[in-house]
Formats: sequence, C-alpha cells, structure tokens
Amino acid sequence: MIIRSALTRSLIPEFLTGAGRNQREIASALSSSRREFLRNTAGLVLGSTLSGASPFLRGESVRKKRKVIVVTFGGGARDQETFAPEGQENIPHLLNELVPQSSFFTHVSNQGILGHYVATASLTTGVYETLNNFSAVAPEHPTVFEYFRKDLKRPASDAWVVAPSNGFNRIGESECRSYGPGTGATVILPKHLLAAATSGGAADFDHLLRDNYENPLYTPQLGGGEFELQQLDGILRLSVADFMAHARTLSSPDELSIYIAKRLMQQEAPSLLWITMHDIDVAHSGAYSLYIEGIRRTDRLCTELWNAVQANPEYAGNTTLFILPDFGRDSDYDAGGNGFQHHRTGDVASRTTWMMALGAGVREGVIFNDPMQSIDLVPSLGAIMGFSPAQSQGKPIKDLL
Ligand SMILES: [Zn+2]
Repeated sequence: MIIRSALTRSLIPEFLTGAGRNQREIASALSSSRREFLRNTAGLVLGSTLSGASPFLRGESVRKKRKVIVVTFGGGARDQETFAPEGQENIPHLLNELVPQSSFFTHVSNQGILGHYVATASLTTGVYETLNNFSAVAPEHPTVFEYFRKDLKRPASDAWVVAPSNGFNRIGESECRSYGPGTGATVILPKHLLAAATSGGAADFDHLLRDNYENPLYTPQLGGGEFELQQLDGILRLSVADFMAHARTLSSPDELSIYIAKRLMQQEAPSLLWITMHDIDVAHSGAYSLYIEGIRRTDRLCTELWNAVQANPEYAGNTTLFILPDFGRDSDYDAGGNGFQHHRTGDVASRTTWMMALGAGVREGVIFNDPMQSIDLVPSLGAIMGFSPAQSQGKPIKDLL
C-alpha cells in the first residue's frame, strides 16, 4: 500500500537542516519520522502501549531447535530512499510483507567506525571494533559464532557466514584466547568461489565479481577458514558446472549470496546463519539509479529469503530473522559529504538506523522507539539462544526479550 498524503509527508529535510538542533535531537527526529511513517503506511502499533510477557519461549527443547538468521541490509540506505514517504516505493516487499510481521526498532545508533568490514565485525562481536577496515584481520573480540558454539557445544556445521566481499574472509572468528581459530563460523565468499570456478574470472561474470565499491583496488589476502571450491560438491551438493550455470542467470553479487545461503539452508540447516548484503553500496560510484536498483533488489532478496525459511521444514516456525543495516549514508545537508554516495561525514543520519526482527518469539506489527545501539544485537542473540557473550559491551534489547 503506497500512501502519499499530508499525513505521511516527510520531515527529513526540516530536521536535518534545522538550526540549533543537537545530534540527539536529530537522531530522535529521524526515529520519530520512521515511527510515524510505519504507523501510517504499515499499520504498526507502538510497543510502549503493550504489556504482558515476552513471546520468546525459553524451554530447553525449544532452544535446541531455535534458528537465527541475521541479514545486514547491505551497504546502508537512507530513509529518503526507504522508510519515508518518498522512499517507500523502493521497499514494497519489506513494507507489505515483512514489516507487518515484525517488531521494528526505529532508533538504532552505530557509534563506531563507518566502514563495512569493521562495522559488520562490530555487529558480530557486540563491541565497537577498531580494526583497519581494509585489512585481512580477525575481529579483536570473540564473535557471536564463537560464543554460540562454545557455550552450546555446537559443531562447525551449525554456524555460517555468507559474505559478499572477499574482505570479510576473517569475520567468522577472533584470535582470542579460549576462543579463536577453529571455534567460529565458516565463511563462504561466493565471489571467491565464482572466481575460482572460472579460474580467475570470465567476462560474462564481471558484474558478479565486483568486490569492493569503496576501495576497488583492495584485494585481501585470502586463506584460513574460508569455504573452498572443493567443498562446493561435498557440502552444498553443487557441481562447478551447475554453480556456474546458475550464476549466469543472476544479476548481482547479493543474488549470488542468497542463492548460496538457500543452498546452505537446504544442505546444512545451520542454526546461526549470518548473511551480509552489499549491492546497495554501489552508491559509491555516484550513480543514483544503481543505488536505487540496489535497494529494490535487497528488498526483494530479503523477502525471498524469508519465503525460503517458510518453505524449509528445518526452519519454518522456529526461526527468528533480524534485518538491519550496518549503518546509513550521508544526508544531503552535510557540507562534508556528497549525499547518498558515501558514508564519510559520520553525521547523525549515517549513524541512526533501524532493525526489524520477525518470526519465532517476536511480537508482530509493533514499533519500538527506545534508543538502542548496534552492539546490542549480540547480547540479545545470546539471550534468545542461550549463550553468554561475556566480552560484548552491548545490552540485551529489553523490548525484544
Ligand atoms: Zn560503503
């Protein structure tokens, strides 16, 4: 349902340009704008008016079956192009299909470094990591995958990451004492697989192999725990020929990632699956139309993934899905930036994002406005799944649990 009326008129320019506003007021205004937009277009109700116990079931047998999928809404988008009246046409699947089933958190702030690898690493550790965004290093603190596997005694097959950029190859585990190598998630880099399958790349796959929109010259050293071409057949039951034939039908790296993720769900059914999307970040090229196309594709792929959850008996009914951006993008009103193209000013708009949770144990159709931080995700996953993220600096999200 697309509504254009005075009721849903965007407030974004007014509060981003408003003289004398401090950062907290701008962040709150962004959050309120999202809240009002979602109330008017998707019919969500305010969570603060609810009472009663959490719908999360905490019994041991429920926990054993529980599955969690985290999707980063990749590359980050601004509200003008998504959760605002003028952006709603780019996210019809989220708005009409997923948002009405979700608990939507309108005020998620990221106070860390706004680079995709370091920010996503921070999401996985629950600590604002300070590693060099363009280097092949492990997160400094234990990842959610290590906490999950160690505390719940889960095998390697139960925790996976599907990541679009080869620069994410170390995201599955830290080098911390008592955690570290061999105790985290296996990382699948679909582009690395495709490049290996085509012996370094072929012209008809160039559009799927473009790796890093912000720093195209960065080529990380691979090696370590990532998934290799020879595992394609053994784990995903996919021949190189079939993989390449399917890749030929795809239009973007994120489509390739979702294809691999669905294959992984069918073959391994991991309980903790993390998928980082990245197509939207083509915005760095400066082409607004490609940025919009990336948002629309990501909107469609998130819903396609959720439909795959419902169609898979291992996942249907016991899966909680989290969708959140790693961070946003610069506003049009900060002189230090160039609007949608980058995320280099560190302005409030690029730091104040959202998160939606849906599926098992989640209240449906509810908006929560209380501020939270992106590092609060890991402790919340710990509370849901039953592990203790001891070194995380975030707090469990009380409105979720
Ligand atoms: Zn970027």
